[in-house]
Amino acid sequence: MKTGIFGGLFDPPHIGHLIIAQHVFEEFKLEKVLFVPAGHPPHKTDFSPYRNRYEMTELAIDNNINFSISDIEKTMVDKTYTIEVIRELGKGQEDLYLIIGSDQWLEIETWKDPEALFRECRIVVVRRPRYEIGKESRFFDRIMVSTAPLIDISSTTIRRKVQKGQSVKYLVTPEVASYIKSNNLYK
Ligand code: ATP
Repeated sequence: MKTGIFGGLFDPPHIGHLIIAQHVFEEFKLEKVLFVPAGHPPHKTDFSPYRNRYEMTELAIDNNINFSISDIEKTMVDKTYTIEVIRELGKGQEDLYLIIGSDQWLEIETWKDPEALFRECRIVVVRRPRYEIGKESRFFDRIMVSTAPLIDISSTTIRRKVQKGQSVKYLVTPEVASYIKSNNLYK
């Protein structure tokens, strides 16, 4: 089973996430893409409660039968490291494709045990504006660079827009937009 693993804070999930996941799904002929909302990411401190991020992700992927969601990080009380999540998800499955944006790729040396991560899964990097992939990394030869289009959308931009009272129409799905509104997020 070729499974894409797409982890992130998803605070909130935006259409960039969905376009990328769908592109990689087709490009690498995956059988599904599993969205994994992060529990306690080691490099971030300020984010919405897990429940809100999980529910928004669930809403965002709802109408795509090729996408599903995992709550594996919900019960991981300590900081959640990708290698541990991949090991857990990889049990009984041989072909995991971890999908990351190029901003994350540039940080990979700061991740816990990147060597082990490359042993446990394949890593697909999606290019992102302002984060050039570069060839300097010792892992460069081991990644697969996706042909997904460059999309200049981030959750940060969306949170800022909501805070300023601007519309997030077309940047998130209508269901996520109503969820943000009814739960009074990012105010
Ligand atoms: P924030 O602005 O809060 O940092 P984000 O938009 O980067 O959020 P995350 O949930 O942190 O969203 O991202 C999950 C994964 O998706 C990461 O690997 C990130 O690199 C990737 N990603 C998010 N947005 C894009 C994008 N526009 N293009 C390519 N990759 C992206």
